Amino acid sequence: MDRVTLPSPSKINLYLEVLGRRDDGYHEITSIAVLTELCDTVTLERRASGITIGVADPQVPSGPQNLCYRAADLLLRHCGITAGISIRIEKRIPISGGMGGGSSNAAATLWGLNLVYELGRSREELMCLGGELGSDVPLFFSQGAAFVKGRGERVEEMPALCPRWLVIANPGIAISTASVYSRLRLPLTSEKAGIRMRALFESGQADAALSCCFNRLEDVVLQAYPAVAELKQRMALLGASPALVSGSGSTVFGVMKDADVAERVASTLVETGVRAVACRTLDKNPMLAVAQ
Ligand code: ATP
Repeated sequence: MDRVTLPSPSKINLYLEVLGRRDDGYHEITSIAVLTELCDTVTLERRASGITIGVADPQVPSGPQNLCYRAADLLLRHCGITAGISIRIEKRIPISGGMGGGSSNAAATLWGLNLVYELGRSREELMCLGGELGSDVPLFFSQGAAFVKGRGERVEEMPALCPRWLVIANPGIAISTASVYSRLRLPLTSEKAGIRMRALFESGQADAALSCCFNRLEDVVLQAYPAVAELKQRMALLGASPALVSGSGSTVFGVMKDADVAERVASTLVETGVRAVACRTLDKNPMLAVAQ
């Protein structure tokens, strides 16, 4: 195969607790993340030498700072391949929106490169390499739902959540994850609530689990960015239950009753200039379905 096109899904955090700051500067977290249908598209094509990135969005770097570039460089060198790769990215996932878009694109690059150059690397090996690129990259090798630990790179697959309708809304603000963590004043936290929520999901009590959604970073984001607070409030009033900031923001997701309500709420938000889409959580990662 000379060329491959892959869906590159986004994630939301149904639960995110920060357990403390580590000696290496990272924060120890525990999270329950699920992939969503809101996907970028990553296309890889063999080329004789060098790595090129094609991306139309000016907010996304098109050189060595792009996570796809770093992913390709890492895997090509790891496998001793001297040929190059051309990578085209179509962005739909909000940039710096707490949905892991860049990390997902990096995972798709590793997965796609493995296919076009027939490298025969296992998902586990690619996941491990992904962890060197960024804490969120390994998550995007999971099927749908995962319990995440460490700085985010330790991923334990969870049984798939029956697809739920969401509204994903973004106020058009880019938030740097580092700035949110730097503002965080951490109380004494524990991993108990996350473990309880995981047990509820795993015993089929998804509704009870969804009523416990929580994000430790949310208060910091809502205080620093009133537009995000207003969006969350509007989504709750429109029927989202819960409406929660994803990761370090600025995206707010709302769990909706059904497709009709999700479509209606998304349209209402779009009419007032908010970028919003109705979509479902994924129970299978469409990137992993692209295989030799
Ligand atoms: P993070 O928590 O890692 O900041 P995020 O989901 O909030 O993730 P991303 O959209 O992944 O945000 O982008 C974070 C930063 O990474 C941005 O500054 C962006 O310019 C840079 N970046 C590098 N490569 C990509 C990529 N392929 N897609 C999007 N952003 C990228």
